[in-house]
Amino acid sequence: MPYKKVRPKDIFKCQKCGECCKGFGGTFVTEENIREIAGYIHVDAETFVRDYCQISGGRPVLAVDESGWCVFFKEVCTIHPVKPAMCKAWPFIKAVLIDVNNWHIMAGACMGIRTDLPDDVVRGCVRKAMEGEGKKES
Ligand code: SF4
Ligand code: SF4
Repeated sequence: MPYKKVRPKDIFKCQKCGECCKGFGGTFVTEENIREIAGYIHVDAETFVRDYCQISGGRPVLAVDESGWCVFFKEVCTIHPVKPAMCKAWPFIKAVLIDVNNWHIMAGACMGIRTDLPDDVVRGCVRKAMEGEGKKES
């Protein structure tokens, strides 16, 4: 395929391994996330922050359980429709536009990311995805 035809969905396909749902502190939640997720799981916002979040850098993040996974990961994301922006955007994030090496670092932990394309193609796809075009399928 000519590089100019490469779309975001061509450079990333989620393999649903759950690796990106592992580890403490990565998933900040905004006030809007708190409202949405609390509503989705039928608890009030205060209960959600107390029982499903931990604090990192003074801000609430989604809690991880004793096995190290996000509390909402049960083989798949159980809050998919309301998951935080970072989860929805992955791996098409600003950090890759700032430094494309981040794409390669992220690929070390995410088996869905292709690394056999030129950096300019990766940057172009990330930019397109961030603008909402041809986003990933998962
Ligand atoms: S985004 Fe990557 S790390 Fe996360 S589940 Fe999909 S393939 Fe695995
Ligand atoms: S909210 Fe869903 S996608 Fe995000 S880390 Fe938790 S389980 Fe993974």
